[in-house]
Amino acid sequence: MGDLSPHFSRHEFDCHDGSRAAPDAELVRKLELLRHLVGDKPIRIVSGYRSPAWNRHVHGAPRSQHLYNRAADLDRGVATVDQARAAGFRGIGFSGSWAVHVDVRPGRAVVFRDD
Ligand SMILES: [Zn+2]
Repeated sequence: MGDLSPHFSRHEFDCHDGSRAAPDAELVRKLELLRHLVGDKPIRIVSGYRSPAWNRHVHGAPRSQHLYNRAADLDRGVATVDQARAAGFRGIGFSGSWAVHVDVRPGRAVVFRDD
């Protein structure tokens, strides 16, 4: 049992520099749905929140959704782009047919190469 939802806890989204995350509720809800769509298999959050300093450190996009607690990076091979779309994510970064970044950005949906 996670402290945000049945399978996710806040600390999983913490920045790799130690900054605390405050994940968007919609992000967590959609990750739960995605987890179900991939056969109720655990989904590891490779990268959730990024502090501004960490985002610069990893050369993230200046307006990266990770800065706003609205994005999660996933391991390649966990969820397909189609599954991420079915879960309702509006931002999907792909590598091959795999979704490796999902986000709940405001506005228009976007799918982009991310490998
Ligand atoms: Zn990402």
